[in-house]
Amino acid sequence: MQTVRSLLAEAAPGEPRRDAEILLQHVLGCERSWLAAHDTDPLPREQAARFRALWARRLAGEPVAYLTGRRGFWTLDLSVNADVLIPRPETELLVETALARIPGDAAWDLADLGTGSGAIALALARERPACRVLATDRSAEALTVARANARRHGIGNVDFREGGWWAPLEGLRFDLIVSNPPYVPAADPHLSRGDVRFEPRGALASGPEGLDDLRTIIAGAPARLHPGGTLLLEHGYDQGGAVRALLRAAGFTDVRTWRDLNGHERVSGGRSVASGESQVAR
Ligand code: GLN
Repeated sequence: MQTVRSLLAEAAPGEPRRDAEILLQHVLGCERSWLAAHDTDPLPREQAARFRALWARRLAGEPVAYLTGRRGFWTLDLSVNADVLIPRPETELLVETALARIPGDAAWDLADLGTGSGAIALALARERPACRVLATDRSAEALTVARANARRHGIGNVDFREGGWWAPLEGLRFDLIVSNPPYVPAADPHLSRGDVRFEPRGALASGPEGLDDLRTIIAGAPARLHPGGTLLLEHGYDQGGAVRALLRAAGFTDVRTWRDLNGHERVSGGRSVASGESQVAR
């Protein structure tokens, strides 16, 4: 009979076996430390077979997060499936940047456009319990995932609405709006390589320069922000200059960019001065 050690060695001989370990943990329902402590335990045939089936899918390129249905983001263990983008570590910069602008006890209205798994909205809602968060997505399937994540974590200060960019926010105004929209150029070879191939194309690609959705969001934001309200956007490593120019052209002030842990320009934003539709005070 196979043991933990021999099964992992068979799956990933001489290479980093973190993915194999995560999948075996998933099959056994155990922690990493258990695997190490029990690596000579015999494994029931049925569990070894379930692991091998998952590992074959991993070797064919399926992302580990879709195989386990889970991905950690911020302090949250999130459910994910192929209807949503897998939350990325660099997106935590967007959460951090937003939190640095929201006082701890603020009762602000926040919006997260294109929420996907709900990662950003739920992280903000969890950290700022007095705020109300509106999370939108044009994909009903994505909203099912996001709602389930809110329920599982008992996060009640998030509302979900279906619709593309500005449609679900019609008639509303916010103190802070965030989004991690699709921003990869449609012809980028990155889209046909590795794990990304399995993710929803509509959550990744956005026109010839990857800027189509960023443009739409920036152009519509002043009308949906309170005067002085903040817009913060994630974007590609080489899009900082273009996004700052779009923000300035839309009348934003205090336009800035923040770098991610890899040193890439990743989040840009600014403050809205005038309201887009009227000058009525909030
Ligand atoms: N950074 C992601 C990637 O390169 C793209 C995420 C997005 O388009 N919002 O895979």
